Amino acid sequence: MSDWKKDFSHSLKSFKEIQSFFADSPEHYNKLSQHFDDNQYSVFLPISFAQKIKDLPVNSPLWKQFIPHHDEFIQGGMLDPIGDQNHQKTKQLVHRYKNRALFIPTTVCPIHCRYCFRKNELTSNDVFSQDLEHTLNYLLDHSEIEEIIFTGGDPLILSDKKIEGLLHALSQIEHIQFIRFHSRTPVILPSRLTDELKNVFDQFKTRFHITMSLHINHAQEWSQELETRLVEFRSFNLLSQTVLLKGVNDNANDLVDLFKLLARNSVKPYYLHHPDQAQGTEHFQIDLQHGRKIYAKLRDQLSGWMIPEYILDIPGGYGKNLAYNSENIEFSGYLLDKNSLKRPVTKRTTL
Ligand SMILES: *Cc1c(COP(=O)(O)O)cnc(C)c1O
Ligand code: SF4
Repeated sequence: MSDWKKDFSHSLKSFKEIQSFFADSPEHYNKLSQHFDDNQYSVFLPISFAQKIKDLPVNSPLWKQFIPHHDEFIQGGMLDPIGDQNHQKTKQLVHRYKNRALFIPTTVCPIHCRYCFRKNELTSNDVFSQDLEHTLNYLLDHSEIEEIIFTGGDPLILSDKKIEGLLHALSQIEHIQFIRFHSRTPVILPSRLTDELKNVFDQFKTRFHITMSLHINHAQEWSQELETRLVEFRSFNLLSQTVLLKGVNDNANDLVDLFKLLARNSVKPYYLHHPDQAQGTEHFQIDLQHGRKIYAKLRDQLSGWMIPEYILDIPGGYGKNLAYNSENIEFSGYLLDKNSLKRPVTKRTTL
C-alpha cells in the first residue's frame, strides 16, 4: 500500500473517535462534549490531518471547517443548493454549460468538510458502480462537449489505475480536448501527489490539456509536503478554488495571505465561491454585502492575476454568476437568468 492510501485509511470515522482523539486537550474536549448525531451527517477525518488541527485553538479556521459541531443541525438551507439535479444527464454526468460537463467518478472524499454543499449526498461508500457506458455514450453523442471536469466526491481519491482507465476511455472521444480535476485531496493528503500519478498525467499530456484545481480555503491548510510535491506538477495548469466561509476566511487579510501563497507556488487563484445554502451549513453562511466588502479590499494588496473571481451559484440550477458588483455593495434581491436574459430568476433577501 502506498503512503497516501495508508494516510487515507487511518482516519477518524465517527464522532466518538473524534472525541477520544481530542480528549487529552481539555479545551477541545469541552467544546466537543456536546451532542452530535453522526447518523445524519457523516464524519471522516484522516489522522494525519487531525494531528495538524490538534495543535490549533478551537476557534481556528481548521477546527471550524473539519470538526463536527451541533450547529450543523440548525434548520434552514436546501438539499440540492445549486440545482445540479436539473442538469444531470447520467448518474455521473452534469451537463449545465454547453462546452463542458461535470463528471462524478466517485462519491468518496479524503475528508468530510463540515461546510460541504454536497453534505446531504456524501457517503463513505462509493454509490456509483457501472454507469460508465451510459456516460461515455452521452459524451459521444454530444460533440459540443470539449472539457470534462472531474469532481465528486473527490476524483483524486481514485487509484492511479482507475484514473488512467477514465482518461484512456475519454481519449477515444475526439472532441474532448480539456481535462480538469477539482480536488481537495492534494491539500488534505499531500502524499497523494505521487510520481505515479504524475506519470499518468504525463501519458495524456499531448492528448489533453490538463488542469488540476486545488480546493483550499485557508493558508493553515498548507504544508511543506504539499509545496514540495506540487513542484512536480507545475507542467500542468494549476488553479485553486476557495469557499468564503464565516469564521474561517471571511476577512481580507486571510484571503490575501492565501492567494499570495498560492501565487508564489504557481497556482492561479481561480474562483472564490460565495457559500451555497446547503442544509446543515447555516453557521458558515455570510451575506453577499459582507462578501462584496471583503472582495473590494483585495485589489489593493494583490496583483490582478492573484485575484480569483467572486462567484455565486444561483439556487435552482441557474448557474454561476459574478457575485461582485462594483456599482453597488447592497444586494438588490434580483439576479439575471443568463439563459433567457430575463430578470428576475430569484428574489432572495438572505444572500
Ligand atoms: C462550476 C461548474 C462547471 C465549471 O464551470 P467553470 O466556470 O468552467 O469552472 C461546469 N458545470 C457545472 C454544472 C458547474 O457547476
Ligand atoms: S472534499 Fe469537497 S465534496 Fe468532499 S466534503 Fe469536502 S467540500 Fe465536500
